[in-house]
Amino acid sequence: MPTDASRSNVANADILVWQTGYRVLLALVAAGIAAGLRSAGVLTLSSVADAAIGPALADRVLSLVALTYVLLAVGIRAVVRRTRQASRMLATLMVVADLAVVFGMVFLLAEPRDYDRALLIALFSLQLTHVYFGRTSALLMLAAIAAAYLLLIDLAQRAGSTVSSVEALTTLGLFGLGALLVTRVQSNLHERLANLVSIFERAEDGDFSRSYDVAADRRPDAITAVGRAYNRMRTQLASIVETDPLSGCFNRRGFEQQYRRELARAARTQTDLALIAIDLDHFKQVNDTHGHLVGDRVIAETGELLRATARTGDVVARTGGEEFLVLAPNTAAPGAQQLAVRVLEAFRRRTFAEPTAHIAVTVSVGVVSDAVPDVTIAEALRARADEALYAAKRSGRNRVVLWTDSLDARTLGRPDDDPTTR
Ligand code: GH3
Ligand code: MG
Ligand code: MG
Repeated sequence: MPTDASRSNVANADILVWQTGYRVLLALVAAGIAAGLRSAGVLTLSSVADAAIGPALADRVLSLVALTYVLLAVGIRAVVRRTRQASRMLATLMVVADLAVVFGMVFLLAEPRDYDRALLIALFSLQLTHVYFGRTSALLMLAAIAAAYLLLIDLAQRAGSTVSSVEALTTLGLFGLGALLVTRVQSNLHERLANLVSIFERAEDGDFSRSYDVAADRRPDAITAVGRAYNRMRTQLASIVETDPLSGCFNRRGFEQQYRRELARAARTQTDLALIAIDLDHFKQVNDTHGHLVGDRVIAETGELLRATARTGDVVARTGGEEFLVLAPNTAAPGAQQLAVRVLEAFRRRTFAEPTAHIAVTVSVGVVSDAVPDVTIAEALRARADEALYAAKRSGRNRVVLWTDSLDARTLGRPDDDPTTR
C-alpha cells in the first residue's frame, strides 16, 4: 500500500496538472486586459511604480511577469506529468508564484490605498490552497501574503506615499482574522478527505477493519455524511467479502484478516494461539460416488458442524476446496488438542447430506499451538499446522496429530472403526 507521503504527492500532482490550465488562462487574460487598457491610455500606472521604474520599464515588467508565470506553470506541469509526483515544495513554489503575480500586478497598477485588492485576490487563492494542499500550506501562504503586503506598503512609503502604517496593519489584521476564520471553519477539510480516501482504498483491498471516526468529526457536512454512510455499509460489505458463500465460514481473505488481528492480540497479551487444520478424508470419492452437488452439501454441512463445535471467539474458515482452519485464540496445546478431538468425534458421529444420502465423512486434523512473540510467526504457524495435517494423512487419516519440534507427533484419536464401511 502506498505511504501517506507518496499518496499525497500523487494527489498534489493531479491537482497541479489540472489547475495549470486555469492559471495560464487567468494570467493571459489579466495581462492581456492590462496591456490593452494601458495602450488605450485608460489604465494608468501606479504612482509608486511610475516613480520607481518609469512607465516604459513598467509595461515591460508587466508582460515579463505574466510570461514568466505562464512558462513556470507550464514547466511545472511538464515535470509533474513526467514524474507523476509533486512534493509539497513544488506545490508551494506554484502557490508562491501565484502570489508573486498578484502582488506584482497590484504593485504596478494599483495606488497604495488600493493595495488591499491584492489581499482580496489572495484570499481566493488561499482558500483554494487550503482545500487542495491542506492546512500547513495554507498557513505558510498566509504568512507569505502578510509579508508581501507589508513589502508593498514599505515600498510605497519609501517612494513617498502617505499610506499609513496603522491603517495598513489594521487592514492586514482584519484580513488575517478573516483568513484564519475561513481556515478554521473549513477545518481540516483536506485531511478529512484524505482520511476518507485512505479508508476507501483499504476497502478496495478488502480490508474493512477501519471505520470512519464519526465521534472525532462532528461537523454536519457532506464529508461526515459520506463517513456515516460508509460505516453503515461497512459491516455488510465486510461480511460479503470475507465469507465463503457455500460453507458460511470465513473465506481465505476473511481468515487472513482475523489471523492478523488475533496474532497481534496474542503477541500483546502474551497468550498462546492455536491453529487447527482440517481436511476431509477421501473427499474425491464422495464426489465420484454421489456427484458434485451432494459434495457441495457435505462442504456446507461441514461448515455448520465446525462452527457448532468450535467455541465462541474461535475463527472457522474454509481455506481450500475441502480444507478448513480453526483459529483458537488464547489456547495452549492441551486445549487445542481437546478441541481437535471434539471435531474428530463430531465427524465420526455425523452422517451428511441427509435424507437423500447418508454419507459418513472423516477428517484428518493437524494441531499447533504456540506463544506468539510477534506477528512474523504467522507463516511458520500455518506451515506447522499443515505439516501436522499431512502427518495425520500419512499415518492413516481420521485422526489428530499435534505438531511438535520433531513431529514425532503424538497421535491422538486413532480410528476405532473404518469410516468407509460405516
Ligand atoms: P485426502 O484424504 O488425501 O484429502 O483425499 P481427498 O480426495 O479429499 O483429497 P484431494 O485433495 O485429492 O481431493 C479433494 C477433492 O475435493 C477434489 C475436489 O473434487 C473436491 N472439491 C474441492 N472443492 C470442492 C467443492 O467446492 N465442491 C465439491 N463438491 N468438491 C470439491
Ligand atoms: Mg481431502
Ligand atoms: Mg485437500
